[in-house]
Amino acid sequence: MGKKIVAKILNLPESNLEKTEILTRINELDINDVYILYRDAIKKINKEFIHKIQSKAHFVIQTLLNDNSGFPLAILENGEKAVGSDMGKWLEILCINGENSENVNIIDYRIEQITNIIKEYSPKGISLDFIRNFLFWEEIYENSDFKNFKKSCFCPYCIKKFTTLYGIELPNFPTFEDTGTYILKNYWDKWKEFTYRKITQSIEKIVSAIKEIDNNIVITIHVVPWFEGEFNFSRKNILGQNIIDFKKLANFISPMCYSPMLRRDNKWILDIVEEFYNLTESNILPAIQISPMYGTEKLSDIQFKIMVESALGGNSDGAVIWPWELLTKQQLKILHSIKSTL
Ligand SMILES: [Zn+2]
Repeated sequence: MGKKIVAKILNLPESNLEKTEILTRINELDINDVYILYRDAIKKINKEFIHKIQSKAHFVIQTLLNDNSGFPLAILENGEKAVGSDMGKWLEILCINGENSENVNIIDYRIEQITNIIKEYSPKGISLDFIRNFLFWEEIYENSDFKNFKKSCFCPYCIKKFTTLYGIELPNFPTFEDTGTYILKNYWDKWKEFTYRKITQSIEKIVSAIKEIDNNIVITIHVVPWFEGEFNFSRKNILGQNIIDFKKLANFISPMCYSPMLRRDNKWILDIVEEFYNLTESNILPAIQISPMYGTEKLSDIQFKIMVESALGGNSDGAVIWPWELLTKQQLKILHSIKSTL
């Protein structure tokens, strides 16, 4: 199987004209995989579009992103809720052990959503995003200090699960912050293991539910693009994404190699791909950022071309273009010429 170019849509436009343009470009470039948000897929206004691409559609589930459906936010080690600040104000992360008022767990709730959408559309794939703990990683650069990364979740659900699992008796603390400080000081090794195991187990649960409905559905997991040992192993130990666990769960592992916003060079994309491949021997599909998202990034056409080529290099399975709907005419031309060499 040759390398492929993949479309990842961030926000599907409401206008039919723009949707038609998106569709034309997908067909023109002979693209067979389109990542599209679950929340866009269930909108009535998008039904016609989704039907046209459903055999290529991978629905992106924003697993622990707060969508105001009544689940509690995670609690950080300083006792604050898992909500970003400044540029990251939009980011609110739910507690993976949390329940709504009907005592339904968030992961079970997502499984029900996934089940419904598979039954309605028979998509090509389901892809799991925001299956990680809180950190606004979009603003964490190569030289950022990992000591400032806030760990989570220290809510009553998580503390109870943790202490029960390891048979630990905690002193009675008046605040979440005190509990967090005590656990991190005395039980860090157990805590980090608890953190990434919970993420892995939740993915296992979701994947086995999906396979029960349709064994052929392609699974993708979106991963924060940090090297294994970078930031003192924070991808695994704080975000809870242990990619070695993902190899048996996913058909594709997709590191979000958004080099312009993360201020990394183009070679870094390939370096991430190679490390991910060496660790997992899985199909690695790097996603690249083709348009400014936070206003500060600059991206020339030449840079775009190098970025796509870098993403297609080494052991990569292809390049995921994000956000597909913002592709310029010039970028499209470049993609056409790259495509002809694949
Ligand atoms: Zn919690």
